[in-house]
Amino acid sequence: MAGSPFRSALAQFEKALQYVEIDAGIVEQLKKPARLAEVNIPVAMDDGSMKVFLGYRVQYNDARGPFKGGIRYHPQVHLDEVKALAFWMTIKCAVVGIPFGGGKGGVKVDPRRLSAGELERLSRGWVQKMFPIIGPDVDVPAPDMYTNSTVMGWMVDEYSKLAGKHTPAAFTGKPIEVGGLDGREDSTAQGGVFVIKELVKKLKLTPSKIRIAVQGFGNVGYYTAKLLHDAGYKIVAISDSRGGIVSVNGKDMDPAVVMKTKKEKGLIDGCYCVGTVCDCENYKTITNKQLLEMPCDILIPAAMENQITNVNAGRIKAKIIVEMANGPTAPDADTKLFKRGITVVPDILANAGGVSGSYFEWVQNREGSRWKNHDVIAKLEPLMRESFDTVWATARKHEVDLRTAAYIIAIKRISEAMKTREKIYK
Ligand code: GLU
Repeated sequence: MAGSPFRSALAQFEKALQYVEIDAGIVEQLKKPARLAEVNIPVAMDDGSMKVFLGYRVQYNDARGPFKGGIRYHPQVHLDEVKALAFWMTIKCAVVGIPFGGGKGGVKVDPRRLSAGELERLSRGWVQKMFPIIGPDVDVPAPDMYTNSTVMGWMVDEYSKLAGKHTPAAFTGKPIEVGGLDGREDSTAQGGVFVIKELVKKLKLTPSKIRIAVQGFGNVGYYTAKLLHDAGYKIVAISDSRGGIVSVNGKDMDPAVVMKTKKEKGLIDGCYCVGTVCDCENYKTITNKQLLEMPCDILIPAAMENQITNVNAGRIKAKIIVEMANGPTAPDADTKLFKRGITVVPDILANAGGVSGSYFEWVQNREGSRWKNHDVIAKLEPLMRESFDTVWATARKHEVDLRTAAYIIAIKRISEAMKTREKIYK
């Protein structure tokens, strides 16, 4: 398949294999998901008709703990993509050392075209179909692209009804009222910011001089830009799926104000507005393609896979790329970027704050307790900083890029778990 995300994922995996000694049988198992579920979900539409939506769950590997990963609602969701995302979850959980395996789900749908009622029936339908193969000790879904805490609230309610008991740990990323974690909403971004701060310290850079361009303005892109802005970094460009804005004279932009404008006008492509006063002099429009290639210090892809490819990798001007999206860089682009001396902080580390927040939520639910936001930060910060330091040291030791280093760490951990669990005595 051209541009197959799963093929890209396997290419990254194979690249790292030369640095680890692992059993051929384990390699063979890691190249395939443990289970693929494809379901058809009938939904009663508001106009009285019935529509059937295609849903997926890929359970990739659970050697280190229950399968874990989000559910994506997107019109272009396909099995190959969900497999790649489930594989990356397996690697990601191992990189940060949380006791989960990897999985991912999806529904082929454009959620913006459904009413709230239709979306709720679809979400409950997904749970009804997947109920036999998910659960707190088996497979724990969470939000991903175009799903959110509201969707998780419906899903956990449906699961609990089917189970006949409260089961908050069956899903993470829930609303606070039904066992969600105070801090899960921005934990992906928080994690990325801790990683960036650690990298900035290593490279002895000055935050106020660092110009940042962010592609994507969903949950992850927005909070990452906002937290970096609040920490004194310069946000010079922001885009969403329809386009973006760039500062013409290097002036810093405030993501909270951009979000307000987006909510009011539905677009961030246009003038930069503060309240009702719009500034069309300091900001101009930019396409997503231009944003990736613009002069800046840190480029943050926080949208879709496959944004940095062999075609544009030679034109990237940023010195650092921090992958807050899953799979934004194609493997051949990776090689090019490494040769050009561009540091790529890989998705499996940079955005692992999300699933780490989910882990804390799962623990909170299983303890029957309530964590405070500062408890979450107090756990997340050392987890992300230490994970970054381990990846950094491994990259230095083997003289490889950070992605390969993260894979080396993860493959060793997963393979140890598989070997320990499945010892076969001859
Ligand atoms: N969807 C997020 C990710 O790609 C979070 C998954 C989770 O919390 O389980 O990492």
